[in-house]
Formats: sequence, structure tokens, C-alpha cells
Amino acid sequence: MSAIFSHPQLVVVHQIASLLQQSGIATELRNEYAAGAAGELSPIDAWPQLWLRDSRQADWAREVIRQFQHAEPGPDWHCPACNNTSPDTFETCWHCGAARS
Ligand SMILES: [Zn+2]
Repeated sequence: MSAIFSHPQLVVVHQIASLLQQSGIATELRNEYAAGAAGELSPIDAWPQLWLRDSRQADWAREVIRQFQHAEPGPDWHCPACNNTSPDTFETCWHCGAARS
């Protein structure tokens, strides 16, 4: 068994985790605090990783992630709370976590 998803930006890993959760796929986050402390590029095995709780869901999880990554993104949106700009694919503000309105 191996990680289903890995990315140097923790916020992206969180985004995939909630996406999978919405599809009924339980995941476990590992290496959450390992990456990026020094502001340098981390080796790939230090990236935050998502692991499936049930490895039988691997094919399904990969398909959910694939569709997410190939979705046509819409325009960026502005956070109502802190006014930072988040990508259309984010349902919550990357900066303060406020829900998209
Ligand atoms: Zn915000």
C-alpha cells in the first residue's frame, strides 16, 4: 500500500482529502508537518501524503482525483472574510479557511 496523493502544498492535500471524504473515501494524512519548514523544496518523500484507510478504494480514489485535476477551473474568487483570492477549485479560503460565499 502506498500514498494515494502527495503534494508539497499542504492546503492542496487538505483539498483532496475533503474531496475524497465527500465521495465517501476515508483518508489519513501523514507527513503533515514534515514539509516546507525551511522554505526550501522538500524531497518528495517529505511531502504531506494522503493514505487510504481502505486500500480497496484506491481505483475509485484515483478516479476522483483525476476528475478533480482535469476539471475546467472557473475564475478565482475573493474571500468575503479576508479578501484573499482563491482558485475556483477551492471551496474554502486557502488563507483563512472561510467558506466560499
Ligand atoms: Zn479568507
